[in-house]
Amino acid sequence: MKVSYKQTEVQPKKRLGQNFLLDANIVEKIADAANLHDGDAVVEIGPGFGALTRAISKRLSSFTAVELDKGLAAFIRAEFPTVSLIEQDFLTVSLMQLAQKNKLKVLGNIPYAITSPILFKLIDERDAVSSAVLMMQEEVAKRLSAAPRTKEYGILAVQLQAVAKVEYLFRVSKHVFKPKPDVDSAVVRLTLHSGDLGFDVAKFRTVVRTAFQMRRKTLENNLKARFYIDHSVFNFKRRAEELSIAEFIRLSSFLAPKSELSV
Ligand code: SAM
Repeated sequence: MKVSYKQTEVQPKKRLGQNFLLDANIVEKIADAANLHDGDAVVEIGPGFGALTRAISKRLSSFTAVELDKGLAAFIRAEFPTVSLIEQDFLTVSLMQLAQKNKLKVLGNIPYAITSPILFKLIDERDAVSSAVLMMQEEVAKRLSAAPRTKEYGILAVQLQAVAKVEYLFRVSKHVFKPKPDVDSAVVRLTLHSGDLGFDVAKFRTVVRTAFQMRRKTLENNLKARFYIDHSVFNFKRRAEELSIAEFIRLSSFLAPKSELSV
């Protein structure tokens, strides 16, 4: 199946997650959700055929877009001369360099295969990012915004919600894309906490991953190989899925690793 717009025709590349959005109303809703104002520093991930790019252009005179596909990058350059196009893998772009004056508002209908790496990049470079409005697989969107004691609550929810306000905004049917993906999508807004978070993010990450290693096991059973367990300070008989974000932060602040190298 080919997809065309004006004089440009492409064979969508599955490996680059190329499912193009066709519904103008949804595109407008995504752009509205980002609360864009002139002067904002905005970065769009994967503009593709420019569906969202067009909506952002109506709200801002200039912004940056990052597209890995050579043909689509050329299309965006020709169609949107005021957009500063970076032809590169988004995962290798320095967000700090783009956030010279203001923190970035990031938008994108993102390539689903690299959803997690994109989210962890935003966490790691959060000093450069104020918010992100992202369309992703519905199932992943639910996992990001999940509450404790639900089956969706896990590593992704805890990592994200510890550093950002996470809002599940709305579902998007798979029927509004070409080619049609296998599953529905959803749009999520992340508003990143600024300043010192008050905890060690690298250690927190290790604690959360280890705590969820075997979901049905207690915290003690998951953590004991890597951390000293002191029953006087925490109830380690609970399971990871029962802990709130604040409890995870408290847990990671006093857990002592058995070897410094393991964190
Ligand atoms: N924004 C367009 C839309 O909504 O119709 C296209 C969205 S499509 C789901 C994902 C886009 O991201 C494609 O244009 C694809 O070429 C691009 N892409 C894939 N991997 C990328 C990467 N690592 N860095 C930047 N862009 C990427």
